[in-house]
Amino acid sequence: MLLDELYQDIIIKHYKNPHNFGKLENAQIVERDYNPFCGDELTLYVRVENNRIEEVRFEGKGCSISQASASMMTDIIKGKTLEEAARFSAGFRSMLYGEKKLRDEELGSLVALKGIEQFPVRVKCAALIWIALSRGIEKYKKEQGKPKS
Ligand code: ZN
Repeated sequence: MLLDELYQDIIIKHYKNPHNFGKLENAQIVERDYNPFCGDELTLYVRVENNRIEEVRFEGKGCSISQASASMMTDIIKGKTLEEAARFSAGFRSMLYGEKKLRDEELGSLVALKGIEQFPVRVKCAALIWIALSRGIEKYKKEQGKPKS
């Protein structure tokens, strides 16, 4: 058996009915990532206002794990500052790789992906959208830091 049945249920629900799915116009962060091992392909859209994530959407195709992880991510990072989102993303990714433990209260519905470290081939699926998020935030901040000409 793959993951806990309850957790599978949460994953399937997000997969069948992903939250915040679709393109976002006027997003300042647009970041794609691809997982060649599974064929997952996702694009992340983030609209930032006063350093805070105002709106976040994603689109693309992929397995249930990659889609569910992206769907849950949009719920949890909305309203966070860029720093908070980047910190959470780093923490969540190290949890996926079994390097760090996060408390269930911090994880929200992402708790469903807690056992994924036992399935190394699926870790990249779950991490994909978070990799895009971290890289997108980094690029955006670098861009903001440049003197305006
Ligand atoms: Zn996948």
